[in-house]
Amino acid sequence: MSSPPTSPEPPADLDAFREDTRRWLADACPQSMRGPVPPGEGLNWGGSDQADQSEDSRLWLTRMAEQGFTLPEWPVEYGGGGLNRAEAKILRQELKALRARPALTGVGQLLLGPVLLEVGSETQKLEHLPKIARGQVRWCQGYSEPGAGSDLASLQCRAEDQGHHYLVNGSKLWTSYADRADWIFCLVRTDPDAKKHDGIGFLLIDMKSPGISTSKIRLISGESPFCETFFENVTVPKAQMLGEPTGGWGIAKKLLQYERSAAASLGGSSAVGGGSMLELAKEVVGLQHGTLADPELRLRIAQLKMDQSAMALSARRVGEEKREGTVGGTGAILKYVGTELNKKRYEVLMSILGTQGLGWDGSEYKPRDLATTRAWLRSKANSIEGGTSEIQLNIIAKRVLGMPD
Ligand SMILES: Cc1cc2nc3c(=O)[nH]c(=O)nc-3n(C[C@H](O)[C@H](O)[C@H](O)COP(=O)(O)OP(=O)(O)OC[C@H]3O[C@@H](n4cnc5c(N)ncnc54)[C@H](O)[C@@H]3O)c2cc1C
Repeated sequence: MSSPPTSPEPPADLDAFREDTRRWLADACPQSMRGPVPPGEGLNWGGSDQADQSEDSRLWLTRMAEQGFTLPEWPVEYGGGGLNRAEAKILRQELKALRARPALTGVGQLLLGPVLLEVGSETQKLEHLPKIARGQVRWCQGYSEPGAGSDLASLQCRAEDQGHHYLVNGSKLWTSYADRADWIFCLVRTDPDAKKHDGIGFLLIDMKSPGISTSKIRLISGESPFCETFFENVTVPKAQMLGEPTGGWGIAKKLLQYERSAAASLGGSSAVGGGSMLELAKEVVGLQHGTLADPELRLRIAQLKMDQSAMALSARRVGEEKREGTVGGTGAILKYVGTELNKKRYEVLMSILGTQGLGWDGSEYKPRDLATTRAWLRSKANSIEGGTSEIQLNIIAKRVLGMPD
């Protein structure tokens, strides 16, 4: 493999950085990690449980992590690449040109990491961030409870101060991949007498701690991506509290902003398997006089494309405004529009597939079509997870438009 581009300082010559990066990626990225993720295969979420990952996927993660390229803009001491914005953009462009799939994904990288960077103590950052960046630890999110979803601040999972440690009792619901995660970040009630938003802590808990158990919940798509998580007299060191013991609500909201931005990006996705929707429509529906045979479908695809372009431009504008520090409350708008758009996209995909989209399993259906049908069902949850569409509309009404209660 060619020598890697190791420059935490911005190189004088971005062209040279691009050249080195391109050469390094061409050597480092296994062929099977290029192009769309085949149906049935998933991205690498990191963590100790890598059983479902191919050798190439593990190799790709290791190589990218060694370079700090899984989180290129994080500081080097926290496992990042120390790249500046221009370099990170070049890296993204070169990865895209190679059609390389992300080496790592997950809530540690997307949600907890950025919050830890902002509010974690130096000890917490050094302990957790490098393990996130290298994909060594997989995190899950312990927010929702049986009586606390939209009204999250009603949560009851209790963390009692026992002097040297907290004693945690209670349960969490809809904890995505709790059965496969190494650690969980959890909202816990630390002061039951305080007003509900004021008595909440943000606790980092090792899933191997005695007293934690999980039970899988099955979805309509046939998958079991989430669990109920139980805590019975779980001992958690006090050093694992992020921020003040009763200041967790503010941290929880910060993290939700990252979650909603990530959910918003769903709106711009292409067809299942990475091909374009138009290619799929041409193949399934066919052409007449050089255009799609079904004029109504043609219209729906064109409308969706326009909506996706508008969404992408808005997301870019919001990103730029955020960097200038001039905007607030737009996460809810993007989450709402992005996830509703993704549901619409799957409705169009299902219309394209027609009877081909009615399969559940069996060799008479193409794997791509079976995957699309299941993903269509999964997309229904997009406007629930990370806060429902109704709640986003409430936030937009109150915080963005300033409407009265
Ligand atoms: C696929 C998926 C993955 C998830 N992963 C996780 C995870 O990893 N960790 C985690 O902690 N949670 C997770 N969740 C839970 C998710 O955050 C909650 O489902 C969501 O916040 C809604 O809460 P709820 O299910 O209790 O619904 P409820 O709050 O009971 O809401 C039921 C309905 O009432 C509506 N409603 C409620 N209050 C209002 C109001 N004030 N105004 C208008 N309408 C209202 C809602 O919009 C919804 O339609 C996940 C959910 C899904 C679907």
